[in-house]
Amino acid sequence: MTKWVLRCTRCGRTWILEVSFDLASMGRIYHYCPYCRRNTFHEVVKRIEEDEEEAQQGEYSSLAQRRQTVVSS
Ligand SMILES: [Zn+2]
Repeated sequence: MTKWVLRCTRCGRTWILEVSFDLASMGRIYHYCPYCRRNTFHEVVKRIEEDEEEAQQGEYSSLAQRRQTVVSS
């Protein structure tokens, strides 16, 4: 699951949505706003990185570096 900060364009409040897909490419989504209590347009403000995900990404990048080292030598 990825957490996203959404800003409701109707009330201007930001809140966090957890979804399993990538919202970054969408820019704007039509979604239920818990403050307006209705469906409104939301701006995707940013993605919240989880500590666990960062650790995994770190492992992947170090693996890639090792591979590069093998190829170059
Ligand atoms: Zn709202």
